[in-house]
Amino acid sequence: MKVYKFGGASVKNADAVRNVAAIINSHNAGPLTVVVSAMDKTTNMLEKLTGTYFSGELEVAKTILDEVKNFHLAIASELFTRKNHTIFDIIERTFYHLYYYIRETPGKNYNYEYDRIVSTGEMISTQIVSEYLHQTGVHNRWFNARDLIITDSNYRDAGVDWLKTEKAVKSKILGWFKKPNQKPRPVAITQGFVGGTTQGFVTTLGREGSDYSAAILAYTLGAEEVVIWKDVSGLLNADPKKLNNTILLQNISYQEAIELAYYGATVIHPKTLKPLLKKNIPLKVKSFYHPEQEGSVINKEYLNDNSYASYIFKSNQMLLSIFPKDFSFIAEVNLSRIFSEFARQGIKINLMQNSALSFSVCFDEDKIKTPPLLKNLKKIYHVKYNTGVELITIRHYEKANLEEILQGKDILMEQKSRTTLQWVVKSKRDEVVAAEGL
Ligand code: ASP
Ligand code: MG
Repeated sequence: MKVYKFGGASVKNADAVRNVAAIINSHNAGPLTVVVSAMDKTTNMLEKLTGTYFSGELEVAKTILDEVKNFHLAIASELFTRKNHTIFDIIERTFYHLYYYIRETPGKNYNYEYDRIVSTGEMISTQIVSEYLHQTGVHNRWFNARDLIITDSNYRDAGVDWLKTEKAVKSKILGWFKKPNQKPRPVAITQGFVGGTTQGFVTTLGREGSDYSAAILAYTLGAEEVVIWKDVSGLLNADPKKLNNTILLQNISYQEAIELAYYGATVIHPKTLKPLLKKNIPLKVKSFYHPEQEGSVINKEYLNDNSYASYIFKSNQMLLSIFPKDFSFIAEVNLSRIFSEFARQGIKINLMQNSALSFSVCFDEDKIKTPPLLKNLKKIYHVKYNTGVELITIRHYEKANLEEILQGKDILMEQKSRTTLQWVVKSKRDEVVAAEGL
């Protein structure tokens, strides 16, 4: 029993959906559970729709809704030859509901409304894939993830109730797989990213959460492996958009993959690995363009953990230095004040360093969260900051070509451990953006 996950790029148009169906069809070893994300950039569009709905821009919201609907209709009309195929009804009905939904005044809870609206992307993509598989003769059944992945009501970042989820997944998906007279190779199709509360409200697991959905299902099903199908050939040692000559890591350990995800490698959602590690379920990353290739595997082996340097680039960072106004040392009292301010604003620190009289922190810039942080810190501290800087993390840096990475950049801060080197850098062309409070 395996779990496959297809992300937005793997279902971005009709040809891509045909390719996904071919990959599913060529799986010939037992039951398969397939997790699918929203098509292409649908989630971003639906996010925008939620924003405009909330700010009362109904006309803009309607235009976005039409665009999303037409995008899906266009894909469906390429895939389904019969013009009266039920999928067209499904698409019309889904967006009609959404259309009526956004004509109402939004409730107070933005995150709740967000999940209600944004989850539509996965709901519709999975129905298109499922119906297309039916058309091509693949025996499959569509499951609503709201009834499988049971969560708390922390909308937009819902926490999984593992016991309830296990029970639901076993009774629904396993129950169907094991049905008497079940045909060979049954395929269960469900949405990534989506969950539901025990009261039946839809939730989401956080952006890019479909990998995590696949891991949750694999864990609760006791699957033998998870395959994440991507537009790259496997796990690379850097994002090919950022660096030329990337190297494929054929095999790394769960621990190394967790480190890479922690430092911001976007290839796998950070929460994905823990459930797999617990049950020792291997995670493969393969190319949907070249399914015959091996790709990469993450498991308890560690063939390539130390073989190559890995590079993680995080842009839109802010580097903030904090100085006590009374020249008191940066020690426990000041640190706990500073940390509680970061915790209060929900800002995750990516890197920190201190001297006797200053504390420097690097974190993702956020238009909403950063201003109150600065305002509150300025009551007690002098602050100085650079915006628009980049955080570069290099694992196994002794194998890296550091000069190449640093070309055109100035180092503002450096931190080194035995395995990891981190730099906060700014492009030589950029000026220091702000220095305040000194
Ligand atoms: N569709 C969601 C997103 O774009 C979940 C995912 O793709 O993993 O964030
Ligand atoms: Mg995605």
